[in-house]
Amino acid sequence: MSLISGFEHFVRENEPLSPLTSLRLGGPAEYFAEPTTVEELAAIVKRFSEAGVSVRMIGAGSNVLVPDSGVSGLVIHLSAPAFCQIEIDGNRMRVGGGARLSHLVSNAIREGLNGPQHLVGMPGTIGGALHSNISFPNVDIGTWVRSVDVMKRSGEQLTYSGEDVTFSSRESSLSELVILAVEAEFEKEDPAALTKQLQTLWLVKKAKRPPADFNAAYLFKNPFGESAADLIDSAGMKGTSVGGVSLFDANPNYLVTESGATVADVIKLIETVRKGVHEKLDVQLETAIQIW
Ligand SMILES: Cc1cc2nc3c(=O)[nH]c(=O)nc-3n(C[C@H](O)[C@H](O)[C@H](O)COP(=O)(O)OP(=O)(O)OC[C@H]3O[C@@H](n4cnc5c(N)ncnc54)[C@H](O)[C@@H]3O)c2cc1C
Repeated sequence: MSLISGFEHFVRENEPLSPLTSLRLGGPAEYFAEPTTVEELAAIVKRFSEAGVSVRMIGAGSNVLVPDSGVSGLVIHLSAPAFCQIEIDGNRMRVGGGARLSHLVSNAIREGLNGPQHLVGMPGTIGGALHSNISFPNVDIGTWVRSVDVMKRSGEQLTYSGEDVTFSSRESSLSELVILAVEAEFEKEDPAALTKQLQTLWLVKKAKRPPADFNAAYLFKNPFGESAADLIDSAGMKGTSVGGVSLFDANPNYLVTESGATVADVIKLIETVRKGVHEKLDVQLETAIQIW
């Protein structure tokens, strides 16, 4: 029996991953699954884990760098409707792990839930965001979380209450394989006031973030109390480029690529910047982007 027997309707072999990443770089996944139900997800996770084959999740691919050689084992994408639902009840919102942050924002604004407007323009899924506890000025996504449904590598499901999960700077204690869904709670606010705030935030962020049609990545975690972008600037690294990859002018904590860019260019640029900041400022920057 092959590893994917019985799962052929939602698993493919040798699937290119570059179209699923914001950098549009990297090779294929040995196996790639888009399960349509939680039962299919549990079955494939269990089968691969028991066989000792590696299993990873991909969301919107905005925070991963895939090597040119691709990745061995299984990559799971929660793209099916079963994993992308958003339900709102009063000031609580239940969001599937595969749901896009942009959908979370638009639903929250419509229903007058205060907080998600700060995520405007941020790429990603709720699973990917919670996995890394994405951060942005004065708000931390973890503070909204009331419970999280996860799946272990055995295929078993668990629900954590918000107090059982710890969130720190761009990290969370959620170490299970899959973030299935999150329940979050927000303060209520007038939708018209939120829309106004959203428009202002959008303009501010638009000026400091690569446009959506750029192939881009967010590079380093902000070391406590400091901005990685400011450190890169102070170290005189602004404008650094390697091959087809360069730091984004308006905010050097992003890189952008042009045609012909390679994964090797990206890694070299990251190392060059990290070394420069360390030599000039004696600060070790830690990458936010996950290098697979
Ligand atoms: C233009 C741009 C702007 C950005 N701005 C910011 C910013 O302001 N602040 C910030 O903190 N980050 C920022 N980022 C980084 C990135 O957008 C976030 O980290 C994003 O939330 C990642 O979500 P994703 O779905 O793309 O995750 P992916 O890149 O697909 O995955 C990231 C990690 O999460 C894991 N993962 C994905 N889905 C799940 C799941 N369902 N269950 C368990 N694990 C999962 C993956 O295995 C991987 O380890 C930016 C990136 C870009 C390209």
